[in-house]
Amino acid sequence: MIHLNENFTKLKASYLFSDIAKRVTAFTQANPDKPVIRLGIGDVTEPLPPVCVAAMHAATEEMAHRATFRGYGPEQGYAFLREAIAQNDYEARQCPIEADEIFVSDGAKCDCGNIQEIFSLDTRLAIPDPVYPVYIDTNVMAGRTGPSVDGRYQGVTYLDSTPANGYVPAIPSVATDLIYLCFPNNPTGAVATKAQLAEWVAYAKKNQAIILYDSAYEAYIRDPQIPHSIYEIPGARDVAIEFRSFSKTAGFTGTRCAYTVVPKSLQAFDTAGKGHSVHALWNRRHTTKFNGVAYPIQKAAAAIFTPEGKKQVKDMTDFYLGNAALIRAAVAKLGFSCVGGDNAPYIWVNTGRDSWEFFDMLLTKAQVVCTPGAGFGKCGEGHVRISAFNSRANVETALARIAAALK
Ligand code: PLP
Repeated sequence: MIHLNENFTKLKASYLFSDIAKRVTAFTQANPDKPVIRLGIGDVTEPLPPVCVAAMHAATEEMAHRATFRGYGPEQGYAFLREAIAQNDYEARQCPIEADEIFVSDGAKCDCGNIQEIFSLDTRLAIPDPVYPVYIDTNVMAGRTGPSVDGRYQGVTYLDSTPANGYVPAIPSVATDLIYLCFPNNPTGAVATKAQLAEWVAYAKKNQAIILYDSAYEAYIRDPQIPHSIYEIPGARDVAIEFRSFSKTAGFTGTRCAYTVVPKSLQAFDTAGKGHSVHALWNRRHTTKFNGVAYPIQKAAAAIFTPEGKKQVKDMTDFYLGNAALIRAAVAKLGFSCVGGDNAPYIWVNTGRDSWEFFDMLLTKAQVVCTPGAGFGKCGEGHVRISAFNSRANVETALARIAAALK
């Protein structure tokens, strides 16, 4: 008899965004004359930067000719892309990261979900609340947690992000081994300072732990004091892995390209206490289970590091941040406190009300879809996330409707 992996039965029955989709579909079916504006799911709306499209076309043309056709590429990514990343995202910020420490992939979701495979099942986890649900769910699937009791999986150290700590969690009082951090944060949009990250690096060093740093939204940071990479913190390359994505940086959500940085100095320990290279383990895992990102996509990704590419990416992220500024101002005018939106495409609104109730109210009274904070963790209750990923016209209409609904 085939047995299932019972850890999967511990997962909450459905994914947040499918619950939202069900409610939105029910509303639109009942109210076909009331068009809904979606400021919920964090998908981009603007087309790819022209430099990326041109590079993709040129690379596709290469694939059409015997002399320039390419089959399997290196699993870790082509050197042209790894070198461009190392130079522009790391060397330019004085971060000591080499091209061969960068693993190109088809998504930060897969990478931050898969990375846990190389660590033992008794690894003690520290996971922010609220946060991108993939970190906890993939550890639940692997069997690294107990069941969910009162909205929290047993055995996990949750890092509470609340109005009291400005949505930047404090260092836990207990030792943990694998620490997930996400800045700029999804869903709160909060960012961490160098001093705050330095404390995490010191904590990880002290505990021989590893930080998994998800900076999928770093392209939205505008405050020059805020670090874009954990490797801006001295010593971080001995304790941290970093995830980055072209999805929110350059509109690649449907194109798929991301990367993970695993420094060669990073170690994990066997039961005898002997250190092993995490880079070698991840390389083994990646080359066994992944066969590389398509050549035209890697060419498109590399194009964002050209002078025109940098300008086009800045214009695109500035555009979404312009939406975010409008949302922040409108929310403040309605008397709510909020964070995010200044260095991130998300605005985290403290509604002081049940988050699904607030979601339903916005849907039915304003025909605007937001994301209920409770879907991102227990501390998300009382909040909703509003996304800046939409056209300017839709954002303006949505804000006018919200203001009217809340009058
Ligand atoms: N990390 C965070 C924090 C995200 O919010 C998202 C997507 O929403 C991802 C990773 C996934 O990125 P990708 O599109 O590269 O899989």
